[in-house]
Amino acid sequence: MTAVRKLTLLGSTGSIGENTLDVVARHADRFQVCALTANKSVDKIFSQCQRFHPQYAVMLDHESAAALENKLKTTGLDTRVLSGVESLETVASLPEVDIVMAAIVGAAGIRPTIAAARSGKSVMLANKETLVMAGRIFIDIVKQNQATLLPIDSEHNAIYQSLPKYFDGNLTTAGVRRILLTASGGPFRRFSKSELEHVTPEQACAHPNWVMGKKISVDSATMMNKGLEVIEARWLFDAAPEMIEVVIHPQSVIHSMVEYIDGSVLAQLGNPDMRTPIAHALGFPERMESGVKSLNIFEIARLDFEAPDLNRFPCLRLAYQALTKGGNMPAILNAANEVAVESFLTGKMSFTAIPTMIEHVMGIMSPAAIDTLDDVLTADNAARLEAQEWLLCKV
Ligand code: NAD
Ligand code: MG
Repeated sequence: MTAVRKLTLLGSTGSIGENTLDVVARHADRFQVCALTANKSVDKIFSQCQRFHPQYAVMLDHESAAALENKLKTTGLDTRVLSGVESLETVASLPEVDIVMAAIVGAAGIRPTIAAARSGKSVMLANKETLVMAGRIFIDIVKQNQATLLPIDSEHNAIYQSLPKYFDGNLTTAGVRRILLTASGGPFRRFSKSELEHVTPEQACAHPNWVMGKKISVDSATMMNKGLEVIEARWLFDAAPEMIEVVIHPQSVIHSMVEYIDGSVLAQLGNPDMRTPIAHALGFPERMESGVKSLNIFEIARLDFEAPDLNRFPCLRLAYQALTKGGNMPAILNAANEVAVESFLTGKMSFTAIPTMIEHVMGIMSPAAIDTLDDVLTADNAARLEAQEWLLCKV
């Protein structure tokens, strides 16, 4: 009988958070939820508290924390409510916690995710933005503190599963020639440049294969998501940028592939359901039931592949550019993208202005080295200001 493993779930009310709790609930004998966290979703986290009885519930927002505390008073639950980013870091590094699911969206996830790695936890990484902003710093912290890093992003989880079991971090000695990172192409795969100018946030959030949070849905529609994932793969697998090739695969059945020097190509396939990578990481190295239905290969019948079009989807080009330039550029790309996506979602600018804003911010900011987390946060902050300024002038 394996010991019960304790879990902190950063971003429990989001799409990844809810999928994680769905898997955890199927294995109540193996996992215990120690802490749940959210930004402002009081009602959702309240019902999660009633179901999973965590010791802690953290809201980023102080007023939401007060509201949650009030609601919990009526239940007799002894969940302690905390608030603010320091409390997110606290529950990510509690001594009794074994596993931290890092599923906050965006740059807001970086501090608690780093806190989990610093405390040597098993970090299940969904928050790709941490690796985009601070790849080398984060990987160094993981190594120095003997933390375990398990990729949740479906592509990276697929790559992880397609690498040798005893992969030691060196792709060359493992005989890897290339990583083929698959992309669905998003809801606008067939749209012309002029059609893209008029798409709405509702259309952008309606992904053909995956149900996800709004930010990553827009990222998938611009293909910035794939760009962020190229950078994520660079750091997770210590892969040179030229070893990572993006392949459009509209069915999202192959979640990515690894090509070896002998010509073998290994892939991980499955239904597009995040409970598969989540269960893989939660149970690792054992396999666990996830609730995902069997793949009906006859219904799928065919698998298509095409090359990405960097002309219609310039965000992917910008991400490769940021990766090649290195230093502060990936953090700048990420920050400008977050402002751009938010501005698009709130109707302040068009879909096609997203890459325009990002390219402007990347062009105007001076390249600089990144040595510390403070350097990362400074670049992030400065890029956000430049992006806001661009918005004021252009819209
Ligand atoms: P989401 O928007 O559905 O949920 C985000 C969660 O983070 C919520 O619990 C929210 O309360 C919390 N949050 C938001 N802003 C916060 C802040 N400022 N401080 C603290 N908490 C905050 O997002 P999601 O789709 O679940 O994505 C989460 C992360 O996982 C992202 O980095 C995304 O790129 C990655 N990811 C998601 C999927 C997916 O299928 N949804 C797949 C791969 C990777
Ligand atoms: Mg992905």
